[in-house]
Amino acid sequence: AKRDGGNRVRMFRQEMGEQALARQRDRTDLRAAIEGGELVVHYQPIVDLATSAVAGAEALVRWQRPGVGLLGPDAFIGLAEETGLIVPLGEKVLQAASEQAVRWHAEGRCLGVTVNVSTRELATPGFLPRLERVITTAGLAPSRLTIEVTESVWADEPAMRTLVSVRDAGIRVALDDFGTGYSSLSYLQRYPFDVVKIDRSFTGALGRNGRTEGVIRCIIALADVLGAKTVAEGIETPEQADWLRDAGCSYAQGYLFGRPADAASWHAHSSAASPG
Ligand code: C2E
Ligand code: CA
Ligand code: CA
Ligand code: CA
Repeated sequence: AKRDGGNRVRMFRQEMGEQALARQRDRTDLRAAIEGGELVVHYQPIVDLATSAVAGAEALVRWQRPGVGLLGPDAFIGLAEETGLIVPLGEKVLQAASEQAVRWHAEGRCLGVTVNVSTRELATPGFLPRLERVITTAGLAPSRLTIEVTESVWADEPAMRTLVSVRDAGIRVALDDFGTGYSSLSYLQRYPFDVVKIDRSFTGALGRNGRTEGVIRCIIALADVLGAKTVAEGIETPEQADWLRDAGCSYAQGYLFGRPADAASWHAHSSAASPG
């Protein structure tokens, strides 16, 4: 029995070693990908529910990994956050999105652009000056940029302080995935947000869970009281869109209006309201 135990420990150690190696390789690859231009930014339309016009676009990062294919953010954002690579990664996405918004503007499409920012990025010293340098270089007005943060920001004091100065600089702030983290009414009233994004788990339950309608109405009323706009995420059916419009939600995002797509496919559909 003793020997078996020893073998198991050795096997366990070997596995751990292999995992650590794989992680090390992923980290090296991700760093090279950020520097070597393997990150691709897709854009998903944000639609004004009252007019059906496209009001803006959310930038969503992908990794075009050689020999693997197009990876979604869930495959590498966690690693980027753990290793600190989220800082250079976030800067690339911000740069690409800012340049794209300026290009759209030049083409006569007045679209705001929205970029996801991790709490870890906000907590890194120098976030705001770096952000301002990127958008100034691109020629993007601060008011046309929205950064999306999650409720986890409330647990991080340095990140929270940065967020306040970001908003003072005229950049809009959206609270992403609202209601899925540790929501706090006290933080909500103390730190103003411009936009509250209603998470897909709520809109997806419309018509399925009896309590959902009441909860969504409350989120919209709460945002209203706080002077924030609402964006409903994950809209897949016309029924969901109709219900949300009637409930007073301002904007919506989802496969019904358009999947995230590269900027080239937005051009291909330049006469249409949104990419396919
Ligand atoms: P998120 O910010 O909540 O983004 C919305 C996610 O829902 C996107 O997944 C989008 O493709 C997906 N989605 C949009 N409409 C629908 C719909 O109608 N139905 C369904 N089922 N899904 C829909 P994606 O692109 O895989 O992004 C996942 C998450 O990765 C994002 O969630 C965001 O938290 C994070 N992320 C993406 N890009 C960045 C980035 O540049 N920086 C950081 N820090 N995080 C990012
Ligand atoms: Ca988001
Ligand atoms: Ca979200
Ligand atoms: Ca999410």
